Amino acid sequence: MRRRPEASEPVRSCIGCRTRRPQSALVRITRSAHGVTFDGASDGRGAWLCRSATGAVAGACLDTALAKRAFDRAWRSRLGTAEMADIRERSGVAHV
Ligand SMILES: [Zn+2]
Repeated sequence: MRRRPEASEPVRSCIGCRTRRPQSALVRITRSAHGVTFDGASDGRGAWLCRSATGAVAGACLDTALAKRAFDRAWRSRLGTAEMADIRERSGVAHV
């Protein structure tokens, strides 16, 4: 991989809208034996979603990611409805 000085910050794709952004513009969501962690330094597979102006996960991207089961792909495992509800609840995104 080629490295360019102006692109030193790693770029990730939002699993909802698929937009590529620098890591700081995204929220990292990881899943471990302890459950789902938002923006934490938890290890395990990360799923990235756009960060909204408030610092929380962008609601539209979360909805898209849940609708197309993008978390399943990011975490390589099937998410149950309880877990999906948990993610939505703790994402900071208001219910629509
Ligand atoms: Zn997004």
